[in-house]
Amino acid sequence: MEWRGTASALRSWQRAEALQLFEDTIRQMLPALGVAALRYQSLRLRTMRRRWGSCTMDGRITLNDWLIRVPDPCWQAVIAHELAHLMYMHHGPAFQHLARHLMPGYDEANRLLDQWTSVLTTPSQS
Ligand SMILES: [Zn+2]
Repeated sequence: MEWRGTASALRSWQRAEALQLFEDTIRQMLPALGVAALRYQSLRLRTMRRRWGSCTMDGRITLNDWLIRVPDPCWQAVIAHELAHLMYMHHGPAFQHLARHLMPGYDEANRLLDQWTSVLTTPSQS
């Protein structure tokens, strides 16, 4: 048997808490999507090297687990971005308009998020 340490226990606790917080935020933003909100299926966290999040055509959202460590507006902007994909599978003006509508301060949060992008390609400590 392998003993599980406090660091590992803390990490899984932190991950579960973050997942709950992200899910709550999605639930708060969904009504602003109207019928497109019905496409939302599920959320999961995964370590990714090149992106903060993704959204499939059938409404499955994946968020990078690095988002646990960035300032709140940053992960909120990623959620707004992925939710806007429930309506538009492109990054055109209508998409941008919707993402800004879902999250006040969206552009500013994205500029801040850009400063964190280097952590994605840095080898993980854990
Ligand atoms: Zn996108």
